[in-house]
Amino acid sequence: MLSVSEAEKIILDLIKPFDPEVDSEVLPLAQAIARILAEDITSELDFPQWDNSAMDGYALCYADLEELPELKLAIAPQEIAAGKKVTQALAKGECMRIFTGGMLPDGADTVIMQEDTDRLGDSLQLKTKPQKGEYVRRKGEFIQAGLRLINSGTKIGATEIGAIASARCQQVKVYRQPKIAIISTGNELVSLESSQPLQAGQIIDSNLYALSALISQAGAIAIPLGAVRDDPQKLELAIKQAIAQADMVISTGGVSVGDYDYVDELLAKLGAEIHGRAVAIKPGKPLTIANFGKVLYFGVPGNPVSAMMSFWRFIRGAIAKLNGANATHWYPQFIEANTTDDLHSQGRRETYLWGNLTYPKGKPIFRPVPNPNSGYSSGNLISTIGTNAIAVMRVHQTYVPAGDQVLVMLI
Ligand code: AMP
Ligand code: MG
Repeated sequence: MLSVSEAEKIILDLIKPFDPEVDSEVLPLAQAIARILAEDITSELDFPQWDNSAMDGYALCYADLEELPELKLAIAPQEIAAGKKVTQALAKGECMRIFTGGMLPDGADTVIMQEDTDRLGDSLQLKTKPQKGEYVRRKGEFIQAGLRLINSGTKIGATEIGAIASARCQQVKVYRQPKIAIISTGNELVSLESSQPLQAGQIIDSNLYALSALISQAGAIAIPLGAVRDDPQKLELAIKQAIAQADMVISTGGVSVGDYDYVDELLAKLGAEIHGRAVAIKPGKPLTIANFGKVLYFGVPGNPVSAMMSFWRFIRGAIAKLNGANATHWYPQFIEANTTDDLHSQGRRETYLWGNLTYPKGKPIFRPVPNPNSGYSSGNLISTIGTNAIAVMRVHQTYVPAGDQVLVMLI
């Protein structure tokens, strides 16, 4: 049985990230939110493009103040609003009315904000002496033309969109979204779309929906192939169809040691390389890690919480790496939080306890599911409602008392 970190390493090592030349597309900037940049963005402009004011106030020359101990300046007749081209240079002993974003006139190097002045007709009394260069945004201070603004592999958020727009890029090259096929296995499964009454023993194929949602949250495209019966021939066909059309395949169910668990057997028959069959994690122990060439195959357990846990802990990072995202996205994020209730584990496997993370007084507080004894069943999908974080108890860690800190994985 693999440890969690061994399984993570095997999976990430198997992933060959997309080729930015082949597996990319050019999108209008507004459509690129949450996508991964497949090229470096270089600034074609200096930012700011010219020295300008960070405040509403008066532009002045600092050196003039040395000779004017009473800190009184003449006000030039021009005013400089943002967007106005300045034509007049500042004369000695003069200041010029300027507004935020306005270009500094030649001869000025400092701005005093209007709150620190008293205007008396054409002259300005400074109430304090400014620092040299104060409230001036210098040309090229944020970035200089020709320098790299954003690295390839960056996930594009609102801040990147704003910065790219200001650099006047209308389009960006991003990686295409990986296609991930999902196969649900089990004789008991009925599609949510079916209108037939459920027969004894039948359940709705909820994994298809939960996994599709997780896949789209991870920035990929889900290809839900539906439920397949525990019938080796049907399953073989479904696996073949999946690997033919997807960059990655996830099947749920059929990877335990039950008589109807055919997935591993079929993968071997179809020529997959199999790299692992079980991980010391709870829930989520049966995890088949295989590949057909470039296509990675995950056989996750059918129990709904186990399937999601495998996704959060291992598959999400694999998708990020495949999709060209930089390494910060390949691993889950963990923080320390104080637990509101006692947490227990048998200590044999790394144990993941789902719950809710809040920051009531600015400090992270983890609240496990309301009824831990019945809640922590990997078949209890209802107990996951509201889950936004997972407490992690390491192997051999059997107890964390209420109030103590516990490692928490963010999802
Ligand atoms: P398995 O891993 O195939 O042994 O399934 C373990 C448990 O998960 C069983 O109780 C199944 O009924 C349930 N299960 C399997 N597949 C799904 C699915 N697609 N949606 C919801 N529950 C499932
Ligand atoms: Mg099954």
